[in-house]
Amino acid sequence: MTIGEALDAAARRWPEREALVDCGQAVRLSWRDLARRAGDFAAGLLALGLAPGDRIGIWSLNRVEWAITQFAAAKAGLVLVTINPNYRLSELEYALRSVGCAAVVTASVFKSSDYVGMLRTLMPEMAAGPGFVAERLPALRHVIQMDPEPVAGAVAFATVEALGRDAGPARLRALEGVLGSRDPVNIQFTSGTTGLPKGVTLSHRNILNNGYFTGLKLKLTAQDRICIPVPLYHCFGMVMGNLAAVTHGAAMVYPGEGFDPLATLAALSGERCTALYGVPTMFIAQLEHPAFAAHDLSSLRTGIMAGSPCPIEVMRKAIDRMNLREITICYGMTETSPVSFQSETDDPVELRVGTVGRVHPHLEVKIVDDAGETVPRGVAGELCTRGYSVMLGYWNDPEQTAAAIDDAGWMHSGDLATIDEDGYCRIVGRIKDMVIRGGENLYPREIEEFLHTHPAIRDVAVFGVPDRHYGEELCAWIIRHDGAPIDETEVRAFCRGHISHQKIPRHIRFVDAFPLTVTGKVQKFVMREQMVRDWE
Ligand code: ATP
Ligand code: MG
Repeated sequence: MTIGEALDAAARRWPEREALVDCGQAVRLSWRDLARRAGDFAAGLLALGLAPGDRIGIWSLNRVEWAITQFAAAKAGLVLVTINPNYRLSELEYALRSVGCAAVVTASVFKSSDYVGMLRTLMPEMAAGPGFVAERLPALRHVIQMDPEPVAGAVAFATVEALGRDAGPARLRALEGVLGSRDPVNIQFTSGTTGLPKGVTLSHRNILNNGYFTGLKLKLTAQDRICIPVPLYHCFGMVMGNLAAVTHGAAMVYPGEGFDPLATLAALSGERCTALYGVPTMFIAQLEHPAFAAHDLSSLRTGIMAGSPCPIEVMRKAIDRMNLREITICYGMTETSPVSFQSETDDPVELRVGTVGRVHPHLEVKIVDDAGETVPRGVAGELCTRGYSVMLGYWNDPEQTAAAIDDAGWMHSGDLATIDEDGYCRIVGRIKDMVIRGGENLYPREIEEFLHTHPAIRDVAVFGVPDRHYGEELCAWIIRHDGAPIDETEVRAFCRGHISHQKIPRHIRFVDAFPLTVTGKVQKFVMREQMVRDWE
């Protein structure tokens, strides 16, 4: 089944039921409305001259046009390139250029982000009007703007929908049975935690099934309403949110553009949501909001907390105070569509935060040592996944693809993990982060967790740096709580006697901030380079 077929099936099965609520724009669509608007927009894209296989970028915060574009691109056989709304000129150029986007759909301005202005800076040729040829982005022929009055060279979203209505469904009908579930439908960029972001090519089969199984773990039905404050450009929103919704008939509720705790609380109570997605900091922001108690969250049941390790007290509060008794956590990576492990809705809370749950249906996993041999249960090694969810490959990069997916079809995650007798998986850290000091393997995550228990330490990142004697040595960057009196001597004294001496970081540096990816992940490779540069 393709994503377009899944949408049409939802429209036949639940024509009048609500499919999507965009609280920011006060728009409500039933499954029939959504299928019709996606069909019109798809026909409009083909009428503009786009052809199956072409790449179409989307660069916007969460709004109804995002979902319409997602489903329309799938119906027209186009490959949707999801671009982070936080990207600025050079990242945007890299994203559009590296995959040769023929069109980009964007909003005009949101808060301080002038999306169209940035596109015009990259492509001054737009001013010449339709048919422009841009020197820096020669493949890009169409800018589609989600506003009634687009700038010169751009076309309004509504105009493309009208174009499709006028053209009729003939071109789309001609694609029925031609588009296959193994065709590429989406390119997503990895976070860039360990290097440059990689463009991951995913098929209908990859992501539609993953959305379905993620929803199945949450026991979603057509009675459910999923609140999606997480960004849609990321698989968390577009696969685990939108595609879980379409395959189970659950409604998508977008609280508004950009995360706002109050708008999210208002959407939860006003729309009687049953599920809530977020990263731990989003849950904290809602729980600590002064207006928290004024909102009725009695309709909530389940959801997903993912994106970064989740503290047990946050999980407890989400369960007790937000009524999220069936909330789950997930492990995944862009290359596996993304989810491969998820907790059960009735797991005890310690298991829900201490592990990433058990493997998803229809996936195989194994943990291997350096030689590629499967290790005994409970022993740490590299986590590998095989099955429907493994990406088609990195866009235009057979070499990196071959390095990640072996001949037997196993995707090598680069993550170290253990799986216990009951099948519960624990993520130990990344192989790239593992430090080999004088032949001994040290896991930075374990040391970070220990240092986190010091009350003066707000955040800490531990990583390896080159060392002439030991090969590698540990280095810690520490962010102090405001005005907290802690120095290197105190950190060492705190460690002594509690962790073994080789795990006590040899180098310690106090900083105000860490280098982060645009998705907020800590980039240790940048810190390592910085240390080496400072020593030179
Ligand atoms: P890049 O591949 O560009 O270096 P990235 O791996 O961070 O960046 P993503 O695909 O967004 O890009 O993230 C997947 C990674 O996130 C996983 O490989 C894993 O290291 C980490 N991860 C995901 N879920 C969890 C989890 N529940 N617990 C711990 N780590 C997780
Ligand atoms: Mg990765």
